[in-house]
Amino acid sequence: EAKSAGKGRYTFFAEGMDASLRRRKEIETALRAALETRTGLEVFYQPLYSAQSGAITGAEALVRWRRPQQGFISPTIFVPIAEEAGLIEQLGEWVLEQACRAAVKWPIGTISVNVSAVQLRNAHFAERVTEILKQSGLEPARLEVEITETSFIENAANCQPNLTALRARGVKIALDDFGTGYSSFTHLRNFDVDRIKIDRSFVSGIGSTEDGSPIIQAIIDLAKASGLKVTAEGVETAEQRFFLSQIGCNSLQGYLLSRPMPAKAMDAVFRVGGHSSALADTN
Ligand code: C2E
Ligand code: MG
Ligand code: MG
Ligand code: MG
Repeated sequence: EAKSAGKGRYTFFAEGMDASLRRRKEIETALRAALETRTGLEVFYQPLYSAQSGAITGAEALVRWRRPQQGFISPTIFVPIAEEAGLIEQLGEWVLEQACRAAVKWPIGTISVNVSAVQLRNAHFAERVTEILKQSGLEPARLEVEITETSFIENAANCQPNLTALRARGVKIALDDFGTGYSSFTHLRNFDVDRIKIDRSFVSGIGSTEDGSPIIQAIIDLAKASGLKVTAEGVETAEQRFFLSQIGCNSLQGYLLSRPMPAKAMDAVFRVGGHSSALADTN
């Protein structure tokens, strides 16, 4: 069996290869081609809002990949494949470049970029980030890297030098998907980070029968006691927004407030204005 992988290239798959492995291989080949030709890849941005003032305080960069025949494929599918295939560094640096260049023009505090554990383990990661910051002209303090607690805990020894170097330059660190790891609470005080992002699974529990509110309250209390800022992700209802603002979340992100959008749409948001207060807001 042969499958087309764009521009006259064919990949032959061994017979009997498991269907899901075959699909992974096919995605890997197509992603490699997409990275080489820079086609179909784009970075979207989702604003973060101050829970108190409602101003836009930052934005998160989220990679998008659209294939000619198949349409959009989720980063939750292709990012792990990129990690395994040795493509994540190239992909991650490209996202970082796009995000820094775009954010330089926007009146927001920070631009947040997701960083894979594989990137964080690379001894040259902090240097690469520094070069990209210089090239883009973005102030280091305006960049925030989002890492997951699992990647941090499992690779602490390898990740720590990068994190220390980045922090020394003023780059911010956020712990993403907070609460989904196995040891969130016990490790919170040891994390040398600026912010935690409460995972959507807790936020979606607000106001439901399996009420997640006491857990969120505990997370926020502990974060505040540790001097960290708190962002809630996946805010979809007015009830969730109200509750999260009341209990001391610093910033909110979710479909209720804004969906991720192309850089051009973000440009338009700031040009048509009304968000000048975002300049003064560092939440
Ligand atoms: P994440 O970093 O936790 O990003 C938040 C995800 O939740 C995004 O999904 C976003 O579009 C989605 N989201 C935001 N608000 C809402 C909401 O109100 N409701 C719901 N249901 N979803 C919401 P997306 O863009 O599909 O990304 C999924 C994951 O893929 C990210 O989770 C992140 O772990 C990873 N990812 C995305 N872009 C990159 C990247 O450039 N590099 C790396 N290493 N990982 C990335
Ligand atoms: Mg994230
Ligand atoms: Mg997250
Ligand atoms: Mg998530």
